[in-house]
Amino acid sequence: LIELRGVNKHYGTLHVLRDINLTVGRGEVVVVIGPSGSGKSTLCRIINRLETVESGTITLAGRNLPAEGKELARLRAEVGMVFQAFNLFGHKTVLANVMLAPLKVRGQKKDKAQARALDLLERVGLADQAAKYPAQLSGGQQQRVAIARALAMDPEALLFDEPTSALDPEMISEVLEVMRQLAQEGMTMVVVTHEMGFARSAANRVVFMAEGQIVEDRTPEEFFTAPESDRAKDFLSKIL
Ligand code: ATP
Ligand code: MG
Repeated sequence: LIELRGVNKHYGTLHVLRDINLTVGRGEVVVVIGPSGSGKSTLCRIINRLETVESGTITLAGRNLPAEGKELARLRAEVGMVFQAFNLFGHKTVLANVMLAPLKVRGQKKDKAQARALDLLERVGLADQAAKYPAQLSGGQQQRVAIARALAMDPEALLFDEPTSALDPEMISEVLEVMRQLAQEGMTMVVVTHEMGFARSAANRVVFMAEGQIVEDRTPEEFFTAPESDRAKDFLSKIL
């Protein structure tokens, strides 16, 4: 579904992505891990075309769309993104936040967008919070609203960039539970996370990045029991 071939990205003289090749099949869950600064967020951002690349191709469902205008807006809608900071609109209710993109970008009718938003809030366990404002919710609840908001555009895939790292420990599991459920339902997901329990139990593959390169791309069993590279061994020895 998502395919990157020979992708390179610089920030000035800093070579942040080096010859990245990555394929994510439909329904696959790929967890991306690696040290700080290794290029994980940049990888998410280029998949969602929030950043341009200097070389290589990024295709979604076989289409290599030009990164401009209407095509770009459509492509972004097909790949939902959930960030560490939830970025909800504080002056809008939870329900209005989830309805916003379908109304504005898709031009959906209000009734339809609202019914769908309520369904999605139900799915993330927040149907009873629809009328509240983001500031009245816990961090874990806000992040689940952000997931519902991403789902409202019926994306082909979801990208998560450290969705739980701003959360208190007791709220992490409620967000991971929603993500696990999405994975089971067959959502295609790329997840940058430090939650190794999630990687072990929910990922089809673990991609380990270091210094802008994909160093390992293997099943969680293989990666956690027998990492091949010294960098991965070193990384795991520090976090496990
Ligand atoms: P972390 O685990 O800390 O989130 P990361 O793996 O997500 O790290 P990136 O955010 O992708 O790393 O950053 C990769 C490198 O690119 C870092 O050295 C970072 O400082 C640099 N970088 C990221 N964004 C920019 C930018 N907009 N301009 C210049 N340099 C940037
Ligand atoms: Mg990052």
